[in-house]
Amino acid sequence: MTKPEYAVKVEQVHKSFGANEVLKGISFSARQGDVLAIIGASGSGKSTLLRCINHLVVPDEGRIYIGNEVLLSRKRRDGVAVSSDPRQLERVRAKLGMVFQNFNLWTHRTVLQNVIEGPVHVQHIAKHEAIDHALTLLAKVGLSDKQHAYPAELSGGQQQRVAIARALAMNPEVLLFDEPTSALDPEMVGEVLRVIRTLADEGRSMILVTHEMKFAREVSDQTIFLHEGIVEESGVPEALFDNPVSDRLRQFLQPMC
Ligand code: ADP
Ligand code: MG
Repeated sequence: MTKPEYAVKVEQVHKSFGANEVLKGISFSARQGDVLAIIGASGSGKSTLLRCINHLVVPDEGRIYIGNEVLLSRKRRDGVAVSSDPRQLERVRAKLGMVFQNFNLWTHRTVLQNVIEGPVHVQHIAKHEAIDHALTLLAKVGLSDKQHAYPAELSGGQQQRVAIARALAMNPEVLLFDEPTSALDPEMVGEVLRVIRTLADEGRSMILVTHEMKFAREVSDQTIFLHEGIVEESGVPEALFDNPVSDRLRQFLQPMC
């Protein structure tokens, strides 16, 4: 089967929480090797959208394409949306790596144990191979000397770099980042953005929800502005940031000027 030109395609995704319709028919696609940045005010639905991509939140309607697979959902009789095919979901999730705002590391495991956990216990890779790979990844994120440390002994920036190494250890086809620097002290933002930029330069497919506008402008191939659950504007970052068409986007970008 030939690989489609998109890494992720989202088609007419809707999601409500009770009476609150958070996503109102979202569509976009991210090409293989591209970085797609998602920006928007707090509460506009960015995290919900990112979570819909791996069905951590199951959409009420719409389709999510990951490479050659399409994730569908259905409503149970009680109205709760569930994935149509749980076995397929497992397969698709293996293609997606996710990095969260709050790192979500296992606090009682060392850095190395955090990074090898998925490969050894989920992918059943031999432990020595997983360790070799993990050490390469820790070197890549600049943390070779921290393999035996526990998360609490690390700074926020270091913990987030471990979380990125952990996501990479599963060899994902696409990396999803949900505001990876917004829980960090300002002096640590740069070290995490540098790692993300390296991954972008290597041609990894990524979807990045971020408040770092300057970074989004520099690193993304395509930017989407989400406003109240719709794609209010999208395009190449130069156009979006320098010549916003929508008044709402203009207002959103104003503090930057
Ligand atoms: P953003 O990431 O852009 O700040 P979110 O996707 O987190 O926005 O949230 C969008 C809206 O959806 C908010 O009003 C939030 O309260 C609501 N929401 C998000 N997750 C849930 C949930 N699990 N249950 C109920 N409401 C939720
Ligand atoms: Mg969010």
